[in-house]
Amino acid sequence: MDNDITIDYIENNLSIFKKLYDVIRVIDPITKRVLLYNGNTIVEKGSTCFNKIGRESICENCISIRALKDKKTYMKIESVDSKSYLITVLPIEVENKTLIVELIKEVTDSLFYGHSLDGEGCKVSNIISDLKLMTIRDSLTDIGNRRFIDETLPIDMQLCFKKDEPISIIMVDVDYFKMINDKFGHTTGDFVLKELAGCLKQCIRNKKDWIGRYGGEEFLVCIPGADEKAALEIAERMHECILKKKFIHNNEDIKVTASFGICSTVDKKITVEEFLNFADKKLYEAKNAGRNRIVF
Ligand code: GH3
Ligand code: MG
Ligand code: MG
Repeated sequence: MDNDITIDYIENNLSIFKKLYDVIRVIDPITKRVLLYNGNTIVEKGSTCFNKIGRESICENCISIRALKDKKTYMKIESVDSKSYLITVLPIEVENKTLIVELIKEVTDSLFYGHSLDGEGCKVSNIISDLKLMTIRDSLTDIGNRRFIDETLPIDMQLCFKKDEPISIIMVDVDYFKMINDKFGHTTGDFVLKELAGCLKQCIRNKKDWIGRYGGEEFLVCIPGADEKAALEIAERMHECILKKKFIHNNEDIKVTASFGICSTVDKKITVEEFLNFADKKLYEAKNAGRNRIVF
């Protein structure tokens, strides 16, 4: 290629790639704006590169800035919601400025890795979603893990406050769990945690509600939109479910109870830490008052 490359030239000559890519465009790697060439000047379009793939903010792993710095071509797979995109960026010099040609292809169902007996290979989007799930699931109880809680609670709080709705959390802690471990062994302890998580799961109402494993034998229930009364109803259901359930493992009948601390808020200024601390305080009160109860 000679030095007089213009955006027109690039667009004309890259047209054969239109079959290979969904989007071919030129972007300014600093402002992240999509560029147009209107005859003799480069103009910025209103949209940003990340808007196109449904993101509201710059990708954490922005490769256009890397391509600019290193003067190299880079590729990455970016996942947004349930879609995966293969993104290729290459730096070009246009009118003494380094710009980035960006090629985007949605590869959710068309990018494979390795091979399998049926000759299909493994869908990369499946590998990515499996990995994502692994980072936010607790493998023992199959509910959200601490990372899931830390990432989801602040978002749900903000969503509720924006809509002027209350939000409630319930902190649940198994009573005398150490004794269960000591008496029946850790595998039985693990069994109890799994079954108890199942009980909690069974008692939530809809897709908005969720449960996470906050720590060893401590769980957090989040009920967006619920006031204290609604949260109390759910906690009562959970409490009853645990009391009624038979925890039988290796022919041993294990008596399991749990304590519950509830906190509900509509206070837009409350921090995540304060919210969790309030629920924890209530849980502590439930423990001090003799366990196997709900405090709100
Ligand atoms: P309290 O009624 O005051 O809550 O007493 P507790 O015995 O339940 O509480 P404590 O914090 O003394 O003990 C919790 C125990 O939970 C200690 C730890 O070994 C156990 N534990 C934590 N995670 C796991 C796990 O994944 N599996 C098993 N089996 N035990 C666990
Ligand atoms: Mg406990
Ligand atoms: Mg505990």
